[in-house]
Amino acid sequence: MKNKFVYLDNAATTPILAEAAAAITRADEELFFNPSAAYGQALEVKKRLDDASKKLLESLGAKGYGIVFSSGATEANNLIIQGGMKKNKQLIISAGEHPSVYECAKTLKNNGTEVLYAPLNKDGTTDLNWLRANVTSKTGLVSIMHVSNETGAINNLTEIVKIVKKVNSACIIHSDGAQAIGKTDVNLAASGVDAYTTSAHKFGGPKGVGALIVKNGIGVKPIVFGGGQQRGLRSGTENTAGILGMCKAAEIAIKGCLNNRLLYTEFKKIFLETLDKNRVEYKLNSCLNCVPGIVSLSFTGLKGEVLLHMLEEHDILIGTGSACSSKAPDNRTLKGMGRSNGEINGAIRISFGVCNTSAEVRQAAAILADAVKKLEDSK
Ligand code: PMP
Repeated sequence: MKNKFVYLDNAATTPILAEAAAAITRADEELFFNPSAAYGQALEVKKRLDDASKKLLESLGAKGYGIVFSSGATEANNLIIQGGMKKNKQLIISAGEHPSVYECAKTLKNNGTEVLYAPLNKDGTTDLNWLRANVTSKTGLVSIMHVSNETGAINNLTEIVKIVKKVNSACIIHSDGAQAIGKTDVNLAASGVDAYTTSAHKFGGPKGVGALIVKNGIGVKPIVFGGGQQRGLRSGTENTAGILGMCKAAEIAIKGCLNNRLLYTEFKKIFLETLDKNRVEYKLNSCLNCVPGIVSLSFTGLKGEVLLHMLEEHDILIGTGSACSSKAPDNRTLKGMGRSNGEINGAIRISFGVCNTSAEVRQAAAILADAVKKLEDSK
């Protein structure tokens, strides 16, 4: 795959890291025993899962937190929102949340929960002045993503915690960190968030495994019932291979975070400079403070989807926005940032990964510039 395609849609998913794939194969072959069984081999599997969890928590600065492994970020977000919300409490989410938060909130709303939507600033971050003015003792849970999957905008979790806890110390603060690991620093205890979501396939791990990391003492009720695994919070036999693959990938991604950031900063610069050199006009939706690995840009008057397919003809794979919402008629995040319909329709998302090279980034930008010119000329 590496030689055939230029893959620039790493925010949708990443290719699996060789070390994570090896950990999965090893676990499938040697650690297939059910961790809930009573014999020694099973206890060994349980110990390996516990050790890996401990290491993962440590690397995320999550002292005083526990972990619930899930089938991915979607399930982790559903667990905290459905399982963390108390009766007659109000839910606050940001207007730019991923559908796994947004649709979950909508379901609660349809069942009578009051839901407020924190607006976005022009740079894609959540409006914290609005949050300051609207959080009350009635608020039961606040869910604001760490890094936007659409633009790479980073929300300041420490500040969010400060604002909310000042007014309501019992309110649960959750952050969807699916796009954060390997792209920006994560220190949960320092930020003070009560719950944090992650997903393995966004940082070189396997698909279908993720986790909700929850501060000890935070009341969360299960949404999946059965044999009572994972302290009753997520029944079902643990996905040993997936979890060990995820923990291996997280170890590498977290260690490589600073280098990746420097690498992607360079890629972003090359990409934009190549567009500039080719004199094509675009509007950046990703701000200077965004994670450099995600670059959203708009070609007003053109269609992002048409550009995506023109690049696909050259074996260059990009996104038009979140893969999960690519079928939605509009883009909530860009709309929330005040972008015009023309800018929203003309948006594409480039997202870098550890497999990319400067040469392919330059080549992709040059081909994109040609495609833009071709479309402009045919107008
Ligand atoms: N949240 C965010 C911010 C995401 O980018 C994604 C993946 N598009 C998800 C949640 C859902 O992740 P998963 O595929 O693991 O369910």
